[in-house]
Amino acid sequence: MILIVGGAGYIGSHLVKELVIQQEIIVLDNLSSGHENLIDERVRFVKGDLGDRETLNQLFSEFPIEAVMHFAANSLVGESVGNPYKYYYNNVSNTLTLLDVMLDHEVKNFIFSSTAATYGIPETSLITEATVTNPINPYGRSKLMIEHILEDFHQAYGLNYIVLRYFNAAGAHASGEIGEKHDPETHLIPIVLEHLLGKRESISVFGTDYDTHDGTCIRDYIHVTDLANAHILSLNALLEEKLQTATYNLGNGKGYSVKEIIDTCEKVTGVEANVVLSDRRPGDPATLVASSEKIYHELGWKAEYDLEDIIESAWTWHNSILVGSSN
Ligand code: UDP
Repeated sequence: MILIVGGAGYIGSHLVKELVIQQEIIVLDNLSSGHENLIDERVRFVKGDLGDRETLNQLFSEFPIEAVMHFAANSLVGESVGNPYKYYYNNVSNTLTLLDVMLDHEVKNFIFSSTAATYGIPETSLITEATVTNPINPYGRSKLMIEHILEDFHQAYGLNYIVLRYFNAAGAHASGEIGEKHDPETHLIPIVLEHLLGKRESISVFGTDYDTHDGTCIRDYIHVTDLANAHILSLNALLEEKLQTATYNLGNGKGYSVKEIIDTCEKVTGVEANVVLSDRRPGDPATLVASSEKIYHELGWKAEYDLEDIIESAWTWHNSILVGSSN
């Protein structure tokens, strides 16, 4: 049995939909940003906080949990700059509690959702796992702190783990049943699509004077189902004892600027956008693009979906929730 902490959130719910085919799952989520209707009905759901020792103790005592996958973090760069306490409390302190209770119950397999934000402003255009980590915002720092804690816990307590550093997750499940749903929404692709559906008057481009080919920030967008598949390969590698620890980037290896994302959304949807050029958003590095060669060589994973697939699937989802909400 696998415990998925944060399984009602965007990435966690997509992982659950794929993993439920091969594993029994319990989802623990406090629904602070997750949604109960994103959780697959085949899993057991417990509403609770990852920092709540009592709930965790009950879960680990009651169920034969073999591994924990941890998606329950706050993940907004801008918010972390304004409210670092929230990020260090939830992402670091609460995760430490979860790890401590796991170890009390001798559960020693852990998959950790980390981020490209751990790299800060990288000196290379293609980031590998060997690129120096030097985060420039509290969100990235909070994730890197847990990465260091995991190294130490492996040495001291034999905790086995895989760290997955996501680049920009986007897109929606092929079933059309689940997709990206944040409140408030801050991510670029859903914001552009909501605008193209008439839910927002315009889109702001945050910063046009970055050192990139068109002055806007470049990111590596990866389909959420590709991310889910990487988690399953990682989980199996731990359960089959092929690996004890590893850190992998998860991206497409291709960067797109904010302007290119807007252009591609216009092309896929056939709707023209009203774009407002705005100031930079605090905490944003100019370019973040991943090399995911390491996980390809070690676990055979590579991204299957390209940017158009990502936007098409997200467009289908956003249209479906629009229909759902008007009924
Ligand atoms: N962005 C933007 N307008 C928006 C939302 C985001 O220009 O309304 C930019 C943002 O500054 C960043 C890129 O789009 O350069 C991706 O941002 P997002 O929040 O989607 O992901 P992040 O890279 O912060 O994880």
